[in-house]
Amino acid sequence: MILGSTGGAAGPAYRRPLPPVLPPRGLHPATQALPPLELTVPEMRYNPITGDWVIIAPERARRPGVHLAGSIRPTGPSHKEDCPFCVGNEHLTGAERLRIEGPGGWQIRSVENRYSALALEGPVEHRGQGLRATMSGVGRHEVLIETPDHGGFPSRRGEGAMQALVEAYHRRLVAFHEDPRVRHVVIFKNHGSSAGTSLEHPHSQIVGTPVVPAQVRERLVEALRYRSDHGQCLYCATLRLEFEEGARLILINEHFVAFLPYAALSPYHLWVFPKRHHGSFAGTTAEERGSLGSMLSELLKLVARRLADCDYNYVIQTLSPAENEVGYFHWYLALVPRVTRTAGFELGTGMYINTSSPEVSAAHLRGETGEGPPP
Ligand SMILES: [Zn+2]
Ligand SMILES: [Zn+2]
Repeated sequence: MILGSTGGAAGPAYRRPLPPVLPPRGLHPATQALPPLELTVPEMRYNPITGDWVIIAPERARRPGVHLAGSIRPTGPSHKEDCPFCVGNEHLTGAERLRIEGPGGWQIRSVENRYSALALEGPVEHRGQGLRATMSGVGRHEVLIETPDHGGFPSRRGEGAMQALVEAYHRRLVAFHEDPRVRHVVIFKNHGSSAGTSLEHPHSQIVGTPVVPAQVRERLVEALRYRSDHGQCLYCATLRLEFEEGARLILINEHFVAFLPYAALSPYHLWVFPKRHHGSFAGTTAEERGSLGSMLSELLKLVARRLADCDYNYVIQTLSPAENEVGYFHWYLALVPRVTRTAGFELGTGMYINTSSPEVSAAHLRGETGEGPPP
């Protein structure tokens, strides 16, 4: 089994004694005064969940943690006259599909994207054949306006606001899947221009596609292969091993675990797994969604504090509500701080070079490396 193949007495030097009992929640603490965890030679690691081989090469590190000058991100006043997402400009957005009211007006709105990647109307029609397969580009694409506050930086928002946001994601996911044209839904946020955003006002996006994307199919194939080879869920097995090793754990709360994968695809690329085995974010309980909102709130604060407030993306990877009970997959959230860029090597091979060791990155996020810039 590749994931565990570096274990044992001859394992690399970054392995360290485990705490006897893991704390039920909170920031995963340092277990002891740590020896330097640097890898001195590159190492290739297999990520069994994505099927990727990642080159872990810390000595190639370019200095991370500096977001691009002029990055587009929530800033300045709480209201801008010419912003389509600000209060008073509701007529400038696409049709409203969700509104969550709070004291003094709406707190969250989800609206159809005026620049939708897919046509919102029309049936799914297949045309062409063989090497020229074509289908109509229809589906759903909404912008979820996270707050009426134009400058409402996510990491400075309260826990309650992040819980309401998670609740809104859930409601739109369920609604999207009621559209029979929709086969897959992705929920994501681009924070800052190096993460791909083009508008300052804090917002997320939800896209429902009429096909299951190749990346999702590949994840399912890997999960099914593991299940048939080992008779257990790859995600449950991964969680067990991360608990056992401890070195890459970041945060643990009632229902979720945040950790850097053993073969993290990029520096600080972290995953939030539900402790409970289930395949769809649609299948979460209200209590679990509250727990995810708290976790997200804490993680964004860590990114702001420990990673020089860098840009980031996060994505909820989930199956449809009908697939909640599958025995081989967990929905999860991936958070990707934008501290490095991918370039020609990644484009040409589909393989990633991670210029930091996940164990060092995890220690930094946990606050064990001082208050300086990220290693
Ligand atoms: Zn605005
Ligand atoms: Zn599982």
